[in-house]
Amino acid sequence: MNIILLGPPGAGKGTQAARLVAERQMVQLSTGDMLRAAVKAGTPVGLQAKAVMEAGELVSDAIVSALIGERLDQADSAGGAIFDGYPRTEAQAHALDLLLSERARALDFVVELQVDEAALIERVVGRYTCAKCGEGYHDRFKLPMVAGVCDVCGSTEFKRRPDDNAETVRTRMAEYRAKTAPILPLYEARGLVRRVDGMADMDAVGAAISGILEA
Ligand code: ADP
Ligand code: ADP
Ligand code: ZN
Repeated sequence: MNIILLGPPGAGKGTQAARLVAERQMVQLSTGDMLRAAVKAGTPVGLQAKAVMEAGELVSDAIVSALIGERLDQADSAGGAIFDGYPRTEAQAHALDLLLSERARALDFVVELQVDEAALIERVVGRYTCAKCGEGYHDRFKLPMVAGVCDVCGSTEFKRRPDDNAETVRTRMAEYRAKTAPILPLYEARGLVRRVDGMADMDAVGAAISGILEA
């Protein structure tokens, strides 16, 4: 099973991808995570991507599609891939078709998380993660059970993304509207799109996605 999670910044793609990984033999392929790792490691890709990401603009199609291709060749993705934050442009959608067909794989579903844009700023600005294990949290919607201690690994260090500020989120939202939302009709024409109410609570969104995958 290969699925795309599609939705604007803060829609819940990463949150839902992590749930699917925990429940099924699937891997999360997040271009955002791959790019942040490249920036941290100071690779040529990271050096090129850093300023673009900080501005909330899109990194080049060639770079992100190459990252996805490399990941698809690693054995762990054979059980199924969850594309999180990719594709984000029409060119990337075409590149993904090619990457999958070259590997005799196909897309099963495109799950669109439908959200109210006004609520997304708060979601993104309140987002943080455990610095050690990456578990996701939110200032208001998902606090650790013990204040300041990660539920999963016990670490007391957390981090926030430099691009998770209200101003950059607006640019990212505009990028989504201009370049990413227009790829939905391509998948609609192929009968792949399933819509989920992304404003429901995290468990309800997860249950809705599970229902789609089991249909
Ligand atoms: P995306 O990967 O689409 O950018 P995330 O999954 O990182 O979004 O979610 C953004 C923030 O909103 C996170 O802090 C997360 O804990 C929180 N969040 C995710 N889903 C929900 C939900 N259904 N209701 C409330 N908050 C949510
Ligand atoms: P979010 O889920 O909050 O939208 P991501 O972690 O997916 O954020 O992406 C963070 C940033 O990384 C984007 O704003 C963009 O600069 C870059 N990026 C991630 N994925 C892609 C992609 N598929 N194409 C172009 N740029 C990307
Ligand atoms: Zn942790």
